[in-house]
Order: sequence, then C-alpha cells, then structure tokens
Amino acid sequence: MKRTLIYIVVSALVVVLAIVIYKATNCTEENAWRNFNPGDVEFHDEAPDSEGSRIYHSIIPDPAPYIQENARRVLQTLYWGPKDPNVPHLKRIIYTIKDYNGISEKYGEGDTIGIRYSTKWIERCFEGKDTLRLDYETRGVLYHELTHAYQLSPEGCGSYDNQSEYWLFIEGLADAVRVSCGCFDQDFKSKDRTRGDSWRKGYRVTGYFLYWLSLNKDKDFIRKFNRSAVELKPWSWDKAMKHILGDKPENTTDALWEEYMKAVGD
Ligand SMILES: [Zn+2]
Repeated sequence: MKRTLIYIVVSALVVVLAIVIYKATNCTEENAWRNFNPGDVEFHDEAPDSEGSRIYHSIIPDPAPYIQENARRVLQTLYWGPKDPNVPHLKRIIYTIKDYNGISEKYGEGDTIGIRYSTKWIERCFEGKDTLRLDYETRGVLYHELTHAYQLSPEGCGSYDNQSEYWLFIEGLADAVRVSCGCFDQDFKSKDRTRGDSWRKGYRVTGYFLYWLSLNKDKDFIRKFNRSAVELKPWSWDKAMKHILGDKPENTTDALWEEYMKAVGD
C-alpha cells in the first residue's frame, strides 16, 4: 500500500517536471492557433535507402502533423493571432528529405513553398546516437525555414545578397524565432550564442540580439519587428527600432547593440 502511494507520488512528480521542462522551452502551442491550418504538408522522401532517412522516420513517424504543429509555433511567434490580417495563408508546404551536402533550405514563394532537409545532416547530428539532440536540431532547423515561409518581407532595403538590411531582416528574424521557440539555448551564456561580432552578421548573431530585445525592451518585439516590414516603406533597421521602441538617440540599432553587448558581458 505504502509502496503504491510512493509510486503514485513519484510518477506525479515526474509528469509535473516534464510539463515544467516542456513549458520552459517556450514551445507550447497557444490555444488560438490550435485549429489554424498552416498549409497542407506534402512529404517526400528522396533518399529512402539512406541511414538519415531511417533515423528521421524513427524520431518522426508522422511528419505532416509534426511540421504543422511546429508551423503554428512559428506563426504564434510572428503574429498576434490567426485573425491578424498580415498572416499569410499557405496552401501547401512541400517537405523533402534528400541526400545532399548542406543542412536545409526553403524555396518558392506565395502560397506554395518547399523545404529540403539533408539526410547527410541528420546522420551527422545523430553521430552520438542522441535522439534528443537530433530532435532539438531538426525542430530548430524547421523553425528557421518555416519562418522564411511566414515572415513578412521588407521593401526598399536591398536584396537577398548576404549583406543588405533586407537579408539581415530575413536571416536574423529566422534565428530569432528559433531562439524564441527554445531550439537555440535561451541562456545567453550558452555555446549556441556566438560572442561579440556585429548585428550585421545575420543568422544567430542577429537572432540572439532580437531575442534579447524581446526580453528586455518589449515582449512583443519580434511580432512588432516582423510587422514593421509592412508599416515602414522604405524599411530600414534604424527606422524599425525607433518605430517599435521610440524615436530616441539610444534606439539606433548600433546603440541598442552596444547596450546588448554590455548586458550579456561580451
Ligand atoms: Zn535562412
């Protein structure tokens, strides 16, 4: 009898702990989005004989709902709710796992987009046979690519050229969503975060900066930053910062970056 009681108490504690850990990763799905269709998923396996494919299917037995669930998490990070008029309505997401040198990429525009994910990369991430690490990486990559599918697109600030303010918006925001969803470590001391550098670096360097602004300046910062792409024409980083945080000298991107660097001790 006593043993049963101890068993029940311990089981309950394990469940509570699991919920706490899950919530702490910030990846919980908000109710408002539960019935939202982020787009029908068409899954293709172009490397069915590869080890990466075998591993992928063993951790993700049913890819379509997995991709849709993570898509809703990206949407709730970028938008206030399904009724937000800026929410893009995708018809189709073509998701392909494929044997190629690379990690993942999004292609296509409009209401049908595609995402490729490399089975070689899956194999590399699973070298230590660590299922949790592979899930963390696979979801992280998915958050990044799905952000490209749903993010707004700023105008008058260059093209996708690895350096323009446009490119920095696209790639910085994609990794900001990945951090916000907990698939880059949210601890600024984590090795996931590159130290120093510049907000003009893009990807996670810029992504952690945007995430820091959402923690320290405005909890809706990421949503407002995304929305600024349709509010400001032509768009620029300085205009967006001042638009969201107030038109003051301390709110230029350079000044905010300095403040962030000091705050995280770089
Ligand atoms: Zn990207």
